[in-house]
Amino acid sequence: MTTTLLHVGRAFTPREEIADAGVLIRDGVIEAVGPRAGMQLPAGAAEIREADAIAAPGFVDVHIHGAGGHDVMEGAAEALEAVAGTVARRGTTSFVATTVTASPEETCRSAEGIARYIARQKERRGTSGRAEILGIHFEGPFLSPARRGVHPPEWLRLPSAELLEKFLAAAGGMGRILTMAPELLGAGPCIAAARQAGMTVALGHTDATYEQAQAAIARGAQHGTHVYNAMRPFSHRDSGVIGAVLSTPEVTAELIADGVHVDEGAMRLLLAAKGVERVILVSDGTAATGMPDGNYTLGTIEVTVSGGVCRNAEGKLAGSTLTLDRALRNIVALGVPLGDALRMLTVNPAKLVGLEGRKGALRPGADADIVLLDAGLQLRRVFARGAATE
Ligand SMILES: [Zn+2]
Repeated sequence: MTTTLLHVGRAFTPREEIADAGVLIRDGVIEAVGPRAGMQLPAGAAEIREADAIAAPGFVDVHIHGAGGHDVMEGAAEALEAVAGTVARRGTTSFVATTVTASPEETCRSAEGIARYIARQKERRGTSGRAEILGIHFEGPFLSPARRGVHPPEWLRLPSAELLEKFLAAAGGMGRILTMAPELLGAGPCIAAARQAGMTVALGHTDATYEQAQAAIARGAQHGTHVYNAMRPFSHRDSGVIGAVLSTPEVTAELIADGVHVDEGAMRLLLAAKGVERVILVSDGTAATGMPDGNYTLGTIEVTVSGGVCRNAEGKLAGSTLTLDRALRNIVALGVPLGDALRMLTVNPAKLVGLEGRKGALRPGADADIVLLDAGLQLRRVFARGAATE
């Protein structure tokens, strides 16, 4: 049994802001949150005092391919550990491992490896100081050839409920998000199968018209994958999938807030249209995250990183090297209040994957995934299920 009391200048739960706050952690779980003055230090507990620090829930990333020189498609425990360790040091304490389009065999092999890692991860609960993998986000292969970005054309497939069943079997119940293009033949039954399996259906890498996107939303699609990127462009007489995502209140929207993927005006438009409850900041991070410029792979795709920007041989953007602490600072720099910005990378993504009770919140019973930030929103310490990251 280990018990720690964090005493900080401010805590964001994130829905509430508490001044001079205490967060009591016992065995990797938050036991109490409130004004420090109203809390007793339990016998034998250590108190960590960071009077000028801000405490917030650890970040939850629902779209990330890799970090620290490794890609989740490798599927091997050492690779996944490297990703989980690298992102935890940047404040991401849990994430949904995201595949890229590959052969069905390769996708199944990766999903099996990730599922195996998740099963073992439970045994190590609270001792690792690494981010927790929450499940799998399948980005492909049911994507539009016209909006594929860097996803290899030879492995793109029309939506197929049968192929999805194979992926889900390989994922051993850990398939959480399916990014797909809803205008493709066979999308209807595929959306139905994904929803039946409890997955979040996300519109992405899509050339869908407004009407096609609305039809998919009516069938149960509820999320937009890296909105604006790899989507039919918005026009006032052909507003497309972007028009549908921005104007449908219940649909949530991913944003890659690195300042490269989406420009400031488009970010402001998305924030205004979706509001603080429906924006989800994602990294779309690749193996190059946390690494120097150079050559890396995204799944099986060769990418070159220059000035922190990942591109393939044709010069197309190929994921990012963004970390969510930087995304937070970028959004706050647009004038978004800190508490609102924090929701976009904690409670909102946790809710998207149905884990809002356990992740993305400072509340009794939640995992003790906590970041301490300084006044400039730079990370000071990160706790992943109560354990400090190394
Ligand atoms: Zn993508």
